[in-house]
Amino acid sequence: MSDLKRVQVWADALIALHLDGTWTFGFDNAKRRAGLCDYGRKRISVSRYLTARYDDDTNHQTLLHEVAHAIAGPSAGHGAAWKRVARDLGYVGGTTHRGETATELAPWVGVCPNGHTAYRHRRPTRPTSCVQCSKRYDERYRFRWAKREITAAVRRAALLPR
Ligand SMILES: [Zn+2]
Ligand SMILES: [Zn+2]
Repeated sequence: MSDLKRVQVWADALIALHLDGTWTFGFDNAKRRAGLCDYGRKRISVSRYLTARYDDDTNHQTLLHEVAHAIAGPSAGHGAAWKRVARDLGYVGGTTHRGETATELAPWVGVCPNGHTAYRHRRPTRPTSCVQCSKRYDERYRFRWAKREITAAVRRAALLPR
């Protein structure tokens, strides 16, 4: 439930403190990952959709995760060098970029025979079954997919903090 302006202020401060003037910060439209460190463009960005629904702590952590990538460099990956930098910055999270995704923005909705739902941002290309019903693929719990329209109103609502 962060105000995007506040996140921008933190990002600018972190870049000024740990990086240099060649790095910039911005918001992107990603729906499945919170943050990104683009070494080529020297740009750190975070998802405007996910930032709008995460709390301040989570958003601050995402920024630290990405700033650590910028400091450690692309070859460090999520290895020891990156971890050391990230810990020094105060990052306490894991090595993934994934988090809660903006499911209301996923056009593909799957329903299993027991009524569990799954969401995809792209058309599922292979049969998938419900993990809540069976850990392995099981024909009996196969999802039936349907496409729904994501309206401009839904898109706008997803930007609002809740
Ligand atoms: Zn990372
Ligand atoms: Zn199920």
